[in-house]
Amino acid sequence: MIQFTNASHKFKNGTVGLANIDLEIDAGEFLYIVGESGAGKSTLTKLLIRELKATSGTIRVDNVDLAKISKRKLPYYRRKIGFVFQNFRLLSDRSAYENVAFSCECIGLPRREVVKRTKEALNFVGLADRKNHYPRELSGGEQQRVAIARAIVNKPQIVIADEPTGNLDPNHGEEILRLFEAINANGTTVIMATHDELLVDKHPHRVITLSGGHIIRDSMNGGYYLDVPDEN
Ligand code: ADP
Repeated sequence: MIQFTNASHKFKNGTVGLANIDLEIDAGEFLYIVGESGAGKSTLTKLLIRELKATSGTIRVDNVDLAKISKRKLPYYRRKIGFVFQNFRLLSDRSAYENVAFSCECIGLPRREVVKRTKEALNFVGLADRKNHYPRELSGGEQQRVAIARAIVNKPQIVIADEPTGNLDPNHGEEILRLFEAINANGTTVIMATHDELLVDKHPHRVITLSGGHIIRDSMNGGYYLDVPDEN
């Protein structure tokens, strides 16, 4: 479903964010992108949401070359994707319900559908009873759950999260990861950039390790660090 073919991104100042990436991600996969700060994780996620374009090579999603999507069609492409940020990015003057509903309103859904989808998404993240709370009245973990409800409310094919547990304590991080696993169990592809070693080790999924913009490891076995060799 997602194919990077010799894809690179060089910033205007000459810094290479990602270099010569070959990567295939199938529909329904759960993938961690790990690596130290500056390794290229955000660049990769930004390329996927077409906030950035590959400066060489190609990136295709469902066989569509992302570099060729016109400005007019970009909002339609982005409907395929739900995005979750480290710092939640909720609208502070809107309740949990309004933050989630806003995403449906933006794509012009009828009111009845907005209400239905918003309720479903808030139920899914376990926040139906907090729907009228404003972000400042919610814990960090709860705010991130609202952000996840917002990301999934339009039933995207792919959910991309950039360090979603980075601002949370380990218990809340674990809750958030379980939500992403539940989203994935429904068939959605999940791509999560993280350097949360504990979570990656505890919940094994495919791991791509970046360093200096290159993929240095692609492991189906999971685990944050190098594969443990067989004992024999
Ligand atoms: P990570 O998310 O793994 O911390 P990034 O993708 O943010 O890494 O960064 C990869 C490299 O690109 C780093 O060297 C970083 O300094 C550089 N970089 C990121 N954004 C920009 C930018 N807007 N302009 C120039 N260089 C950038």
